Amino acid sequence: MRYLRIAESMFRRRPILLIFDVTRRCNQRCRMCNIWRERSEDMSLEEIRIKAEMLRDRGMGYVFLQGGEPTLRPDLVEIVDVFSACGIKPTVITNGILLQGTLPEQLAARRCNVAVSLDSMNPDIFKQIRGVDAFAKVTENIREASKIKQRGGNWAVTSTITAVSTLKDIQALESFAAECGFMYAIRPYIHVSGAAGKRDDALAYGDTAPIVEIFAYMRDRARTSNYLASVVYDEHIRYVRREPQPMCDALTRSIVMSPRGDFAPCIEFTGESAPLGEMYSKKDEWIRRCAECNRETPCFYNDAREIGILWRKKLHLALSFPRIIMQMIRYGNFF
Ligand code: SF4
Ligand code: SF4
Repeated sequence: MRYLRIAESMFRRRPILLIFDVTRRCNQRCRMCNIWRERSEDMSLEEIRIKAEMLRDRGMGYVFLQGGEPTLRPDLVEIVDVFSACGIKPTVITNGILLQGTLPEQLAARRCNVAVSLDSMNPDIFKQIRGVDAFAKVTENIREASKIKQRGGNWAVTSTITAVSTLKDIQALESFAAECGFMYAIRPYIHVSGAAGKRDDALAYGDTAPIVEIFAYMRDRARTSNYLASVVYDEHIRYVRREPQPMCDALTRSIVMSPRGDFAPCIEFTGESAPLGEMYSKKDEWIRRCAECNRETPCFYNDAREIGILWRKKLHLALSFPRIIMQMIRYGNFF
């Protein structure tokens, strides 16, 4: 039923992915982010339930529960359940500091994906990027969570590749994730207008050759073990090389919901969030503005392009179906 709803939305060019900033509060102070500086007015669980039911009726199939830091909400598991009950598959995106106590077990007992951000295996670089001295805590929490053998969703360690990333460090992260039975994925560092990703000169790409080398390494590794990711890494490489990008997914494949329950086409426009009907009443204008943004300052936020990339390659991916099934058996069903 859920897959039918998602397929219908894809053919009708309606969003299937909700990016939900559960709260904008955060317990890290990342140099590449402005979100933690903001005030956050968070919806109650009941208000979230009403939004989830409305979004299900509009064809939504997935939700990223992110922030800020979603684990700062004591009712995160209930929020996961609200979306699951609506047939909207949740992915919790966390910095891992509070992924402890009974929370990992509760999430693992559900059909819920979990992505833990970890950018370096070097505690000093971790602190330099994340602004807090939490490397030991995050890695300890991942190791503890790895002892849970039955996980209902796909669990991953994810790294943002910045100018201070090295191939050696990425290989160490890859080994750590594998040791813990987690999938490992990387993403480019994004800074557009500063609404979400903030430009930091120490982290921004200068010479892109070492960055391309890291993405090419991951792409080549993924071709045999994580085929969907290899397709996305090819596009990451084009992005890092600053090649023109096809239209992003904003408004056609994904939308953003603020902690207060208002909506915007993408994370860069959350300052103009409005009730859903109001946002859609300006759909043509938003499409024009998103196209302009895509042309002049394209991003590669993880919600902004991946659905479009996979959709454009759907026939090619259909031929790779056995490889993709093997990936799901190994790491859990992301979909
Ligand atoms: S990037 Fe994420 S973890 Fe870091 S400060 Fe921003 S919201 Fe928090
Ligand atoms: S390229 Fe698209 S998703 Fe990225 S910031 Fe611009 S409008 Fe948003």
